Amino acid sequence: MTVEFPRQVYENTILRLPELRPETQTIEFRQDPLTGARCRLNRKRVERPKQVSPGSAVDGLARKPDNCPFCPENIGAATPRFPAAICRDGFYEVGECRLFPNLFPLAPFHANITLSRRHFVSIEQFSAAMLEDALETARLFFRDVFRAPRSDTPCGCRNSGGQPGTTGADPVATAWGRGKLYPLVCWNHLPPSGGSIVHPHMQALLDRGPSGYQARLLEASAAYFEKTGSNYWTDLPRVEREKGERFVGENSSVWVLASYAPQGNREFQIIFTDGAGLLDLAGDARKDLVDALLRLLRYYHDSGVDSFNFTTLSAALGERQDFYNLNGKLIARPAVQPLYRNDTGVLERVHYEADVEMAPETIAREARGYFP
Ligand SMILES: [Zn+2]
Repeated sequence: MTVEFPRQVYENTILRLPELRPETQTIEFRQDPLTGARCRLNRKRVERPKQVSPGSAVDGLARKPDNCPFCPENIGAATPRFPAAICRDGFYEVGECRLFPNLFPLAPFHANITLSRRHFVSIEQFSAAMLEDALETARLFFRDVFRAPRSDTPCGCRNSGGQPGTTGADPVATAWGRGKLYPLVCWNHLPPSGGSIVHPHMQALLDRGPSGYQARLLEASAAYFEKTGSNYWTDLPRVEREKGERFVGENSSVWVLASYAPQGNREFQIIFTDGAGLLDLAGDARKDLVDALLRLLRYYHDSGVDSFNFTTLSAALGERQDFYNLNGKLIARPAVQPLYRNDTGVLERVHYEADVEMAPETIAREARGYFP
């Protein structure tokens, strides 16, 4: 099946002083081939004035505070433990990585994973061992929750349907009920990405339903399959490879593309060539994902990027779908600057429409040099 890449191009003419010389810029509206999500691209915007001193302030973040809860001397006392129904030791440890419950969870099952004993790791210093070990702790955590008997309340947590007779009380759904679990591995690196703790860490979440964006991807992928009899996640890389404009590289487990209609700056999609659910993310599949991520992080570093977000986009845990492959998204965030703006403004937060300044075709050309 072929994949369509919808776009509309508009011109906007202004008169530049001092001679009132007309200058025309083009604004390209692109729509994601699967979801229809729009972005606006004006390549001239890389030239706009940035009222901030040049250079990154990342060195200021590298100083280790005494009270970092993720540093090895504090982590034992500062981080909570899992109930025995999930994990007998209360936490998971592989190499230097440790996975433990998030102290302020945003999901029925929500863990943090430290990537190193070092308090500060800059973007070019991440190693394959750090990322592979972190993904292994996430796999063990997902496996144990997935396997745990979920018909009762083994952790002793509240499992009521709301107190009868009370007014205005929302029913409390149990995290332990039967039904699907939707996994997320996400990574916010440094404050411009939304990360509140500088000590390098990822997060692993299990929700009872997909996130809004995951749901949109799953529904659109099922509809695409229904209409074409084909899997969008294998069609897209094939078509992109033929076009050659946004295909970045591949290995035996993943394809890497610059997104056609990105929702973030320097956005890449990493798509597994085969289902590869997060429960089987081991061996070569895990190595190959990490290899692709590290190449893209090297490209980011060489381009002056020091902060980023990564997230997996998965079907329900343990579920294999003909219409969906596990994939992930990596986006660059603004350089660490005390006074520079965040890159998420009103168009992104309220209109769900990204304003990007670098063409996907440009970043694909640049990043291709980092793949064999
Ligand atoms: Zn620390």
